[in-house]
Amino acid sequence: MRDFVLKPWVATCHETADRLSDYIDGELQGRGLARVQRHLRRCKRCRELLSSLTRALDQLRSLRASEPAEPAPETVAVIVSRIRRGD
Ligand SMILES: [Zn+2]
Repeated sequence: MRDFVLKPWVATCHETADRLSDYIDGELQGRGLARVQRHLRRCKRCRELLSSLTRALDQLRSLRASEPAEPAPETVAVIVSRIRRGD
């Protein structure tokens, strides 16, 4: 997080991508949440990333419902990195 000090009031694309899973899970709070929200308002690419991730997580939840043992906890991070590699 230390490399985002240039604009403390708004997250970068990189930081937003890193935090989207927390954002979706409602785990971001206070200043961190505000920064991501500000970024999403002005960045179409990250809004599209957010909707891709939301769709992927929905699919994951349906899978999880039918197969309780899957997926591994790191799946969200894997999805985020896949989506980012596709940029
Ligand atoms: Zn962005």
